[in-house]
Amino acid sequence: MYFKCWGCRGSLPSPATMGFDTRRYGGNTTCFEIRTRYQDKEELFIIDMGTGIFRLGNKLIEELFSGRAQSIRARLFITHIHLDHTFGMGFFAPLFMPGNHIEFYTLQMPATYGNLNRQLSGLYDGIQFPRHLEQMPSIGGLNGNHEAFHDVKFWDSLEFDTVKVDVVELNHPQGCAGWRFQERGAAGNYDGAVLSVATDTEHFDATNPKVQKLGREANLLILDGQYEDDEYMGLAPNRADSKQGWGHGTPRSCIREASACGAQRLGITHHDPSHDDRTLARMESRAKRYNRRLQQPVPEVFFLREGMEISF
Ligand SMILES: [Zn+2]
Ligand SMILES: [Zn+2]
Repeated sequence: MYFKCWGCRGSLPSPATMGFDTRRYGGNTTCFEIRTRYQDKEELFIIDMGTGIFRLGNKLIEELFSGRAQSIRARLFITHIHLDHTFGMGFFAPLFMPGNHIEFYTLQMPATYGNLNRQLSGLYDGIQFPRHLEQMPSIGGLNGNHEAFHDVKFWDSLEFDTVKVDVVELNHPQGCAGWRFQERGAAGNYDGAVLSVATDTEHFDATNPKVQKLGREANLLILDGQYEDDEYMGLAPNRADSKQGWGHGTPRSCIREASACGAQRLGITHHDPSHDDRTLARMESRAKRYNRRLQQPVPEVFFLREGMEISF
């Protein structure tokens, strides 16, 4: 399995400015590229359409023009519809090129929000963005006229040629889907490499049985660790408001989850827009120190950085 991070900022894009450097960890919001393989077949999955998807789209088009691909075929998994995970969509150029095939998967939301087609039509309505969703010619099933919008439910299990994806329920306002990818192994069963992703989730105190299910056998577990403990608790100087109930975790809560489920590698994501590189580097070393002191440390803990590639 191949993983590339195209954006790991939470809540708001955070470009580097004078006195606020974000070049090391990156300023784009969530977008991950995942390629899964079985025998000679490869499939492309994309998690979320944060601002990071802009550069991923350009890379896919480069591959097309260089002849490495004949068309862009991708499945886009949307963790949830919050703007930091959707506002890159209009700048994902492959959507506007006829001949590509892009399908969407997300949670079936409560009746008030409607299905994904309706949710995205609300954002891309030809007024707030100059093109309507229906004017994106590449939205279409990978298999002919097959449905392009798939509304999934928590605990669904989706089977594809190379991989199985389980949908996991996460703690986040308005809901959020975690995705557990497991590739086919040598015998063709879904017992190969595991990538587990929870971009937005609040762990609360002890370990969360749902996150434990998400992270079982994970070769790479990606979890939301947006806040330092004191920010989360509302104890940080100048930031008196507690972040409890906002739907995000802390590096320590991520490490406790990863240690309890036995994940091999933990990548912490959804970096806060007020954290510059210096703050994130400090948080990362503090997290590693905390991990080393545990009875059962996670073999590898790191903060995600834009451009990071991992194969396993
Ligand atoms: Zn988010
Ligand atoms: Zn959110």
